[in-house]
Amino acid sequence: MALTTCPICDKRISDKAKVCPHCQTALDSDTSSAKRIKQIEKSTRLMTHSFIAMTIFIAGVVVWFWGGEVASGPRAIVGGVLFAFGFVGYLITRVRIVLNKRKQL
Ligand SMILES: [Zn+2]
Repeated sequence: MALTTCPICDKRISDKAKVCPHCQTALDSDTSSAKRIKQIEKSTRLMTHSFIAMTIFIAGVVVWFWGGEVASGPRAIVGGVLFAFGFVGYLITRVRIVLNKRKQL
């Protein structure tokens, strides 16, 4: 009896099992739908990442322009770092979303 991993919950199961004992997913027939669910979960995760990056970006802008004047000293550094991280993180996440969508087609 060989072991394999469940496409849904990633737990170790027997390759002869017709139903995953952990998450009750039927494994015998259509694993493409299982893969599809995984893809959707991945894109949901990427959307969350892009939302977090966007929040960091906005936080950077808020820190930078807090009180209506341009930041100076440590506030400028904090604002700049948040701004840069949010911006780069957002761009990377957008690229990953596009690549992920391309794989689905
Ligand atoms: Zn499972």
